[in-house]
Amino acid sequence: MPQPFWKMKSLAEMTPQEWEALCDHCGKCCLIKLEDEDTGLRLETDIACKLYDCDKGCCSDYTNRKRHVPDCVVLTPEAIHQLDWIPKTCAYRLVAEGRDLYDWHPLKTGDPDSTRKAGMSVAGQVTSEDAFTTIDWDRHIVEWPGEED
Ligand code: SF4
Ligand code: SF4
Repeated sequence: MPQPFWKMKSLAEMTPQEWEALCDHCGKCCLIKLEDEDTGLRLETDIACKLYDCDKGCCSDYTNRKRHVPDCVVLTPEAIHQLDWIPKTCAYRLVAEGRDLYDWHPLKTGDPDSTRKAGMSVAGQVTSEDAFTTIDWDRHIVEWPGEED
């Protein structure tokens, strides 16, 4: 049996189509994270970037995202090694670490909705930062499945 492309290729060797297909659309990288200035402790929240479509679970203008959100981080094969906040379940992180994808990944199930069905998508569980005038952050700190220490 030939191995799937994510086992055969490094991130840098993937075609643009393979690279895009690798995203499981969990949405966790589009959530605002908090970091304690003193301890460096990073906390996850259920508040999403203003461009995130919280119901559909995707960027609402992915092609032009940098125009709307200049600090949106564009993943690259090089950057993935330097971004320690990337979710533990992120497919790019898994491949960069030489690990296999989770069984719920759409590339394994053949079902584009399998991330959500497995409870690994934030879609429908988060609120856009645009919905707030002020945010009481203490009420929005969460731990997402798969991100436990
Ligand atoms: S601009 Fe789009 S891809 Fe970037 S963090 Fe926001 S929702 Fe996610
Ligand atoms: S964390 Fe990784 S797999 Fe999940 S949406 Fe972001 S880039 Fe895609």
